[in-house]
Amino acid sequence: MRLLFALAFFIASALATQRRYDGYQVYQVKAKDRVSFDVLVKLYNERSDVYDFWTEPRYVDFTTDVMVPPAFTKTFVDVLEAFNMEYHIKIDDVQQEIELSRLDIAPPLAPKKALQRSPGTPRYSLDWTSYSDLPAIYEFVNEIAATYPNLVTVTSTGQSYLGNDMPILKISTGGSGKNAIFAEGGIHAREWISPAFVTWLIRELVENYAAHPQYVDNIDWYIMPVLNPDGYTYTFSPTGDRLWRKNRAPNSGVCVGTDLNRNFDYYWNTGGSTSIECGETYHGGAAFSQVEARNVRDAMLSVANQTKVYFSFHSYGQYWLTPWGYTSALPDDYQDLYDLAQSAVDKLTAVEGTPYTIGTSTNLLGLASGCSDDWAKGGAGIKYSYTVEMRDTGRFGFQLPADQILANNLEVWEGVKVVAEAVMLM
Ligand SMILES: [Zn+2]
Repeated sequence: MRLLFALAFFIASALATQRRYDGYQVYQVKAKDRVSFDVLVKLYNERSDVYDFWTEPRYVDFTTDVMVPPAFTKTFVDVLEAFNMEYHIKIDDVQQEIELSRLDIAPPLAPKKALQRSPGTPRYSLDWTSYSDLPAIYEFVNEIAATYPNLVTVTSTGQSYLGNDMPILKISTGGSGKNAIFAEGGIHAREWISPAFVTWLIRELVENYAAHPQYVDNIDWYIMPVLNPDGYTYTFSPTGDRLWRKNRAPNSGVCVGTDLNRNFDYYWNTGGSTSIECGETYHGGAAFSQVEARNVRDAMLSVANQTKVYFSFHSYGQYWLTPWGYTSALPDDYQDLYDLAQSAVDKLTAVEGTPYTIGTSTNLLGLASGCSDDWAKGGAGIKYSYTVEMRDTGRFGFQLPADQILANNLEVWEGVKVVAEAVMLM
């Protein structure tokens, strides 16, 4: 009997641990000809349940990062060598990187002390020197709204599948007829730098309003800091998975989650996404099948007539991307989007030399249909639709060390300011 208890306890504690990546390796792979490139794309499209492509296969002679489970490294390397691909191991043991990056997580919120809020001093724990979980981000959102009621209004766009609220902040000095910028982060759960930037952007616009009042006096900002709150929570959970990407809604089979950024209804399911439920880019059973995508859609549509720019913040790769993702064809007004992106990236890179590449999603990263930026432009009619893939280029990937959060934020802010200046003149 005692043995049974011990066994039950052992099983329970074994189950109650975060998913481990012992022996998982990240390979940087380069296909040098069409045939071998097609092999990579086939793995990406058909075996993303096994091979986790941290970056999409782009073109012949471009590199892609693939995480490979230990049971498949031999098979994978055999394929690479059979097709004469160039490769090297970029991360030797993913679990080790996860252990290291645990140090970058802010401690959970302490119970609120019964303090009066002093005027003009919001009480929140975010300091952008570590990564914060969902409760800390929502505390920040509520505190900043309560402290600056003349600048910030928080409303709910609805709830996620698991019942997490999905707030949107309107940052505005009031009045009507202003141009707007819609910005969101955290659609992919594991890209922690994204909410870390978007929350910082909120702070900069609001707490630092006096340093640059023109950006809020002349523009209404609609900002959603975490589009995938269930997935984000799962990446922090001691029983979750640091490298989770999708949302947490169940599918018909055993695998959970839809890639929200393949679920939007603009040329949905026309390439660069998968119908395999276990795949990282599973597009869902139908366009807008996922409540989180519908919540964003409705929030955007309600302000689309005043919105000139849509920003979707992701990591990683250092790309400033424009539509389209569903086709290699360029939008009619591509030059406008490109020119503004170029001005933004010039300022961004001037901060400390971080290079960004500009172009359409398809032409830089390969086909990806059902993405939010394509829908923002094609579905909601927002002309300047940008996906910004922030730091880094893969040394740390999704586990960007927290000591790079501020540097990342400061440089991306320079780019955002350029776009804001342009919006004021539109
Ligand atoms: Zn992403």
